[in-house]
Amino acid sequence: MSGRKQVNCAYCGKEKLFKDDIGLNKKLIHPQVERMMCLTCMAEYFETTEEELKEMIEEFKRQGCALFG
Ligand SMILES: [Zn+2]
Repeated sequence: MSGRKQVNCAYCGKEKLFKDDIGLNKKLIHPQVERMMCLTCMAEYFETTEEELKEMIEEFKRQGCALFG
């Protein structure tokens, strides 16, 4: 009874986004975002790098954000 549905990137079709990727979508785009992006697409969208996004995720984790972990 996992009940966790698989989330794919709505833009490039990458499968099985990580919880952290999904958390970042919710954090940066919208809490109820329906079209999830993978880190690669988000980096492009925000004109940054995947490394920067990963650092952002770590920062949110340090803040204890419930969307990550
Ligand atoms: Zn993508």
